[in-house]
Amino acid sequence: MSKLIATRAIRGAHKLVARAERELEEALKKYGPDKKVEFPNTGYFLPISHGMLGMEIDTVGKLKPLLKKAQSLLPPIPAEKVWVPYLGHTMDAGMATLFADEIIEALKYLQDPLPYILMENCPEEGDFWLGAADDVIMRKRGIEFVDGTAPGFAACVGKCPSTEVAVKIARELQEKNLYIFMSADNNGASMADQLREAGVQMGWETRLVPFGSDVTATVHALGFATRAALSFGGVKAGDYARNLKYNKNRIFAFVLAFGEVDDEKHAQAAGAINYGFPTVSETDIGRILPTGICTYEHVVSPIAPEQMVAKAIEIRGLKIHISKVPIPVSFGPAFEGERIRGEDTYLEFGGNKTTSFEYCYTKDLKEVQDNKIEVIGPEIDDVKEGDKLPLAIMIEVAGREMQDDFEPVLERRVHNFINEAQGIFHMGQRDINWIRISKESKAKGFKIAHLGSIIHAKFHDEFGAIVDKVQVKLYTKEADVLKLREKARAAYHQRDERIGSLTDEKVDTFYSCTLCQSFAPTHVCVVSPERTGLCGSYNWFTCKASYQINNRGPNQPVPKGDMIDNVKGEWKGVNDFLFESSRKVLNRFCAYSIMESPMTTCGCCECIAAILPLTNGVMTVSREFSGMTPCGMKFSTLAGTVGGGQQMPGFVGHGKRYIISKKFLLAEGGIKRLVWMPKMLKEEIKETFNKRAAEEGVPNLLDMIADETVAQTEEEVVAYLQKMNHPVLTLPPLM
Ligand code: SF4
Ligand code: ZN
Repeated sequence: MSKLIATRAIRGAHKLVARAERELEEALKKYGPDKKVEFPNTGYFLPISHGMLGMEIDTVGKLKPLLKKAQSLLPPIPAEKVWVPYLGHTMDAGMATLFADEIIEALKYLQDPLPYILMENCPEEGDFWLGAADDVIMRKRGIEFVDGTAPGFAACVGKCPSTEVAVKIARELQEKNLYIFMSADNNGASMADQLREAGVQMGWETRLVPFGSDVTATVHALGFATRAALSFGGVKAGDYARNLKYNKNRIFAFVLAFGEVDDEKHAQAAGAINYGFPTVSETDIGRILPTGICTYEHVVSPIAPEQMVAKAIEIRGLKIHISKVPIPVSFGPAFEGERIRGEDTYLEFGGNKTTSFEYCYTKDLKEVQDNKIEVIGPEIDDVKEGDKLPLAIMIEVAGREMQDDFEPVLERRVHNFINEAQGIFHMGQRDINWIRISKESKAKGFKIAHLGSIIHAKFHDEFGAIVDKVQVKLYTKEADVLKLREKARAAYHQRDERIGSLTDEKVDTFYSCTLCQSFAPTHVCVVSPERTGLCGSYNWFTCKASYQINNRGPNQPVPKGDMIDNVKGEWKGVNDFLFESSRKVLNRFCAYSIMESPMTTCGCCECIAAILPLTNGVMTVSREFSGMTPCGMKFSTLAGTVGGGQQMPGFVGHGKRYIISKKFLLAEGGIKRLVWMPKMLKEEIKETFNKRAAEEGVPNLLDMIADETVAQTEEEVVAYLQKMNHPVLTLPPLM
């Protein structure tokens, strides 16, 4: 830790304890030991000495033992060059400081005139320092710390570089629902003076609370925290360990130090560290990096004023909850299933019409500016009704607990989140997404940038435990989108590859995915190492990561249980799970079959396989192919027919990757059943497909499989199969 901070904090503590001693001596002389002393209207005596030591101080005389305690805690002042390997001394000095502060502040209430006004809110003119909060305020405001309405407070010490900065910082903290406790001046002026100058309304009501201009008034912030633990945390007076622990875990508070930080202010920071409240300083006062009391760093400096709030939130581990998504249309699950018809669409992206994708990736905390949303290229106002634009949604996240494995989990939720906006439609995922903004939403002021606002808000909301910062870049120029798509595709590929040689036999637990139940109420994907979710976004690892993030979320472990059929892919555990999670509609899944109890299909599948009875084989078509298929239906019609969460023998939705799995339609003879695929899909999976085909002893299988260039009807497929001598001709009948 920084030698300098320790030295200065300890020196500051010595000064304050000496001052307390002096002032107490004077008070004893002037009033005698029996003079009543108290903070107004409170049953908590002087809250720090009461909460930490169980003392019940109500007379000047009873301040003496507190002074003794403070003196006993004072460590010797270390020479500036001495290395202090642990925080203990600094912490003791911090506690001594708070006791001294409390003595000095208590004696202020004996002064005439009183330096504080006994009100809840500051009058618009005249004095505004409020001093300690009474129990009425405490009960009203403290509860907000418990129910989460206010996550914590910022103790702002000193004077901001300018009035504008003071106002900006106050607003920034207010937006985060934090209380702003102000104390201590620099050369006669403090942040509260600056807010007063700017005409900002102060008081408990606006959460901008000026405690006092003296540095010792900082103790009222910690006194408030101590009382919160006593009255709401069930902590007994005197149980200092539990009190401090309660504060560390429950009250998201921190100190912002502006301007020059003198010894006495260093000492206050040391006091706050005892509670797990870190300090961020504008000027360079050194650093105390993680050593175990605060969640992360204890003291960080120098930080530019405009970054201090973000930094404090980061190091205090404060999770931002955005209760209202800031967009001009309604938002909520009620709008999730809403469709936007072509004629109601103002602007659209993707859906095979333009290049479009969404990609979430992790960056360093330093590289992400929370809530920065940029549209690079035309905005909605630059296009005309009915236009289509390319779109790259690049979501950059950072967080102390973030892992690469979580990226696909977050990314997959973009679908639900965007759909919750009224008049906005989202379909698909990765590079096969499709987004529509309705005319009505455009008229209400919805912009492309709002897609980013939704993602920012919902990521914080749902993934607050792992995500600290979210920034979104929305590119709408073709060249940019094409270039970035390469990057995204490389990442999708890498995620898919991760599953490597893991097989279904090697694990005893599969994972469920019920994310799509909001659209297809009975749909359940059972995801195994060799069978990805049908959207292609969720493989076994992704589901596992998702369960790690939220063990009550849409991805649950499914113990395989007893095996019923190895070839069809049926297990007792899977069936039992299915029964419960399909709302008792389905009771049987054969993971490797299209004919017997195949898995259900929802609207976001990458491919749909269908039997072609005349051929004794199976075709599969990918979403990107918009032409007619030999089963007489286009992809869109097929999706509309089977995609609502039904189990329909003869049809099954699947991820592209499943085609090259050894478990692909194993029950029906595997890859050799495949008789037709669109040419683009053949091209896309060629390399891996050929490897799989070689393993099956038919290395040129892909050439034997018909596509739209050689066969468009079932009859034409049959003719082609015969011409190529496709192995399906020798397989047992499908039906
Ligand atoms: Fe989950 Fe399946 Fe929907 Fe993909 S398709 S999100 S795996 S339920
Ligand atoms: Zn789906």
